Amino acid sequence: MLKTELEISVRKAAPEQLKKKPDQNALGFGQYFTDHMFVMRWSREQGWHDAQLQPYQNFSIDPAAMVFHYGQAIFEGLKAYRGKSGNILLFRPTNNFERMNQSAVRMCMPRIPVDRILQALKALVYLDRDWVPNTDGATLYLRPTMIASEPALGLRPANEYLFFILASPVGAYYAEGFNPVKIYVEDKYVRAVPGGVGEAKTAGNYAASVKALTEAQSNGYSQVLWLDALEHKYIEEVGTSNAFFVINDELITPPLAGTILPGITRDSVLQLARDWGMHVNERRISIDEVVEAAGDGSLQEVFSTGTAAVISPLGELCYKGECIPVNGGKTGMIAQRLFDELQAIQFGMRQDAHRWMVRVA
Ligand SMILES: *Cc1c(COP(=O)(O)O)cnc(C)c1O
Repeated sequence: MLKTELEISVRKAAPEQLKKKPDQNALGFGQYFTDHMFVMRWSREQGWHDAQLQPYQNFSIDPAAMVFHYGQAIFEGLKAYRGKSGNILLFRPTNNFERMNQSAVRMCMPRIPVDRILQALKALVYLDRDWVPNTDGATLYLRPTMIASEPALGLRPANEYLFFILASPVGAYYAEGFNPVKIYVEDKYVRAVPGGVGEAKTAGNYAASVKALTEAQSNGYSQVLWLDALEHKYIEEVGTSNAFFVINDELITPPLAGTILPGITRDSVLQLARDWGMHVNERRISIDEVVEAAGDGSLQEVFSTGTAAVISPLGELCYKGECIPVNGGKTGMIAQRLFDELQAIQFGMRQDAHRWMVRVA
């Protein structure tokens, strides 16, 4: 592998290639993409090379590319926020690239040079800065992705990879305020097994979870709560976000033991709660404990955490035909406070004690 610094070239879109910007008040999620993207390639002989900021465009890719057959694909998700003075901020971006490298190692894919890719990300956001929304709560969602591009059949790690970053302006998740959702506690399908790839942000995990999600949604639930694969007993995650419970004034979340995704929002929530002097506990928690706590009145709140929604309050958990209301179906105080604090930090409106924000411009 070449040890020279990765050169990043820039090819800007011509004026006539620039897209018409969507209505900032109707962005939704992941519907629009900006004028540019970042792309680089990896081969076993050359390491990372051909790094370029270029106009957003289709790839030309061989149908034998190994990603289509054996699924070596990993991704990340983070956001750029417009601060009140017009500056653009990223939330803990280095953590995303470090996590991507952990996913890469698990999937036998090459690691990326974190500092250099952070520079590329900033350059992409700066180039497409007019796409960073300035409406309340709206952001520019960023999607770093890596796929096996070598055209070959036969199972082994590919010898060629493609890395790219897409940018998509997205609306505020809670444009109409918090609406605590109804959750199906999944006791048939599982998301990840010990020794599997549950802690990697790899495409197959999501493909494998779609069936449970669609069945739950067709029965009127908005997400599934996953239980552990061995005993169908311990709580793992909620859809594609991390799970939190408040019982007897203690904040509880399942530990990072290999089957759940190490969320950056999860880590930030734990940090803020500790700053506030709350009792915080990363430990195994069973669905029976939650049902019991609901029964004796000690279950105060349930919410989930992730980049897209920040905090999602859960209003009802349905397990084996019984539905447990949580906090009377209303958003809890702790969920609300965490949401307000994180959003204020992310939009540059509150002191950033942990130095989480990175300025783009
Ligand atoms: C991305 C993801 C999360 C949340 O991680 P954040 O870094 O907080 O966005 C949680 N669970 C799963 C399965 C995920 O894919």
